[in-house]
Amino acid sequence: MAKNITEKDIINNIKDLMSFLGIIVDENTKETPQRMVKALQEMCCGINKEKEIKDILSVTFPTKYTGMISQGAINIHSLCAHHLLPVIYDVFIGYIPKKRVIGFGKISKATALLGARPQNQEDFTQDIADTFKNNLKPYGIGVLVIGRHSCMFCRSNGVNHQNAFNITSAVRGSFRKNNATKEEFLNNINLSRGKQNI
Ligand SMILES: [Zn+2]
Repeated sequence: MAKNITEKDIINNIKDLMSFLGIIVDENTKETPQRMVKALQEMCCGINKEKEIKDILSVTFPTKYTGMISQGAINIHSLCAHHLLPVIYDVFIGYIPKKRVIGFGKISKATALLGARPQNQEDFTQDIADTFKNNLKPYGIGVLVIGRHSCMFCRSNGVNHQNAFNITSAVRGSFRKNNATKEEFLNNINLSRGKQNI
């Protein structure tokens, strides 16, 4: 953040924005600028957290397990880069470990930090795959992301986007090279989705 911009300036800017939109200041809206700053700060808490993410993914344990480890849906709240409006993601991650595994809880923790920043879904999907690949160094990794973007379903433009699920995927290492591995990952996702009715 530029040094000479204070939180007070930002709050005044939001007041101007609200006035521009015709929002009346009353008991409900008078503290809205402060609330909006706090909410956006929370939703952007993953910005510049590369070191924290690296630390989370650096705690690994030895294993004899040679199969695939899949997790999902990891429910992530994020912001779209284009409108700064909320996006809800279901993230599915699968990897084949190379002698070391990461704690299950750490997978979702690192993913949540990667999600807590404005970005487009395509980059988010690839960032998850590359971050896990570079830190965990597995034989392969697959990531599938299903996104519901409020900038779509809150702004209809005459089109009903209520059920528009945007799906992106990224595969690295053995997940890219081996079709059977890719299929196993997709089967695991379907098993998980069947349990959750999503
Ligand atoms: Zn958007």
